Amino acid sequence: MTTNCFINDGLHIYSRTVFIGTILASLLLLFYVCRVRPGPKKKVEDFVFQRFQKTIKSPVSFTGVGLHSGSIVDLSINPAPENHGIVFRRIDNQNSAPITAHAFQVTSTNLATTIGSGFSKISTIEHLMAAIYSLGIDNALITVNGSEIPALDGSAKPYIDKFNEIGFSEQSVERSFFIIKKPFELSDNKGSLVKVEPSLRLQFRCSIDFPGVIGKQDVEVGFHQEGFANILSARTFCHADQVEQMKKDGLALGGSLQNAIVVSNTDILNKEGLRSKDEFAKHKLLDAIGDLALLGSPVIGKFSFIKSGHNLHVSFVTELLKAKHDYIAIIEPRHAAEEYKSLFFP
Ligand SMILES: [Zn+2]
Repeated sequence: MTTNCFINDGLHIYSRTVFIGTILASLLLLFYVCRVRPGPKKKVEDFVFQRFQKTIKSPVSFTGVGLHSGSIVDLSINPAPENHGIVFRRIDNQNSAPITAHAFQVTSTNLATTIGSGFSKISTIEHLMAAIYSLGIDNALITVNGSEIPALDGSAKPYIDKFNEIGFSEQSVERSFFIIKKPFELSDNKGSLVKVEPSLRLQFRCSIDFPGVIGKQDVEVGFHQEGFANILSARTFCHADQVEQMKKDGLALGGSLQNAIVVSNTDILNKEGLRSKDEFAKHKLLDAIGDLALLGSPVIGKFSFIKSGHNLHVSFVTELLKAKHDYIAIIEPRHAAEEYKSLFFP
């Protein structure tokens, strides 16, 4: 017993020495690794793109007035399974067909983007779509009991805040990304242009040129870059002189200083002023991102929107999709070319 005790004690002392030695060696190794190979400081724009599809954790609801229809509508955004996509459905008519949020479903671009299927139509989807696309939500079923998505504060901020509050569920299917292979552009005869070029990042530029207090504004920002959130909180706007004509045309019936910036020739009529001095250009970019979402897939490229509106955005997306074999590579992150891998595996 005594001998065994000695042997046990010996083993115990030996094990303890080895254990302490191992800890010290690990600490030294860790110190060495940290000292000589510090990890690169991650920049905001290097934020990882999500690899897998995602949906929202639970349903969310909004009630508000439609900017153009003036009707009060209830909107509900619900989680949906993998590969479902973003699908809208009117619930005020049981026979309404579901409408996929895709450029090929657009039926009108007059001051807002409207999608439809059969007799069922839903308009002013762009701010909600910008929120969904920017947050990387791939799958959702959106129900609405009217013809228009509520305007809320005129930006995408209420959607962003609510989605962030309830959270997201990562799903099991890997996302497919559109990677722009070569430049593609579309212009009209009024000096408006939409262009995309290959880029290792998702980047945006938006330029506007209006008379009066709005003037020329130019905004340039990378996706996930600091400041991108300000794009999503920029409000829609109009000129006070246009309001009467729009109302005669049956538009802007729900517009007010609560959901839009209204300008005169010399002033901004909203008492609270602007959220940022280039809020007008930022809102135009928000609209453009909402329309870009109608590609139906996340995209990587450098986009320029020069004095463009919904009509040119949707035409651009439609033409790009039609020519996608020439201009777009479709990849899943694990099959991405080496230069794109850092987007997904930093
Ligand atoms: Zn807008």
